[in-house]
Amino acid sequence: MKRISRREFVRLCAGSAAGVSVLSLLGPYIASAFGQAAEGKPVVLWLQGASCTGCSVSLLNSVEPGSPTIDKLLLDVIALKYHHNVMAASGQLAMDHLFDTAETNKGKFFLVVEGGVPAKDDGYYCTIGDKNGKHITMLNAVREIGGKAAAVIAAGTCAAYGGIPAGGPNPTGVVGVKQILSAKPVINIPNCPMHPDAFLGTVTYVLTYGDIPALDAHGRPTMFYGRTVHDNCIRRSDFFAERFAQKLGDPGCLYLLGCKGPLAYSDCANRGWNNNTSWCVKAGAPCMACAEPGFPDAFSPFYGRMPLNLDFELVAK
Ligand code: SF4
Repeated sequence: MKRISRREFVRLCAGSAAGVSVLSLLGPYIASAFGQAAEGKPVVLWLQGASCTGCSVSLLNSVEPGSPTIDKLLLDVIALKYHHNVMAASGQLAMDHLFDTAETNKGKFFLVVEGGVPAKDDGYYCTIGDKNGKHITMLNAVREIGGKAAAVIAAGTCAAYGGIPAGGPNPTGVVGVKQILSAKPVINIPNCPMHPDAFLGTVTYVLTYGDIPALDAHGRPTMFYGRTVHDNCIRRSDFFAERFAQKLGDPGCLYLLGCKGPLAYSDCANRGWNNNTSWCVKAGAPCMACAEPGFPDAFSPFYGRMPLNLDFELVAK
């Protein structure tokens, strides 16, 4: 098995240059980690609650020449036993399989949660199936299955903190996974959608070292969320030169158009979405701080200048 020290692993993830995906950097280690984990393939159950499925789509879009393809990773290297979008089973058969797999692999499987968890009225507003004639709510599924998992990953901002489904007035009482599984270690991989590099890098770290990576105060791996968008932004020189865009489409820093990059901890500038094609600021859109707790309400209006005054940075340049 190819080995890599923790320090080097974190350095590769945190320091990867713009346009170089974690899949390409960690490809050999990912294959080894997944191949070596447990006796046989690590079992993964993937639940979807209040979500748009964008995080699954983002992950399934991962393609990196020379690296394990995402379909191989998800279907051959790990044992993805339950996922609404890619599994063939449905109905009672699927529900039985979900709960039986969790029981059979108690304490050994990984639970991935995508989407927020509607908690109002005992979870009545989000059901994921029926079992023995009764609705299975997302709330109860996360409680029961999450309680048996070895590790829980909240994939995307909705699962991590509630995200858009929890936006005011939040009529279904959507919350993030950690609020449901408060006693369980939950690794948050936010962004809207989640970046596949952060997900694959985190899962590979867990499988390689049998441990969760260093997390920040909001449960995010610091190797992917340790710096702000502003720290590494491609328009940062414009900010310090005070070249500010006055309208969308202008060149220059997007600060006056509402960019929340200085408040947003995420390494978007190091890795574009859709196979490193682009990301918000590169495409001319202000950062909306989608990886932060409180998104979207705490960062609205998206196109209004944020209350934080960065003039001190300009003075201190
Ligand atoms: Fe980039 Fe936004 Fe910072 Fe300007 S304010 S440098 S656009 S992150």
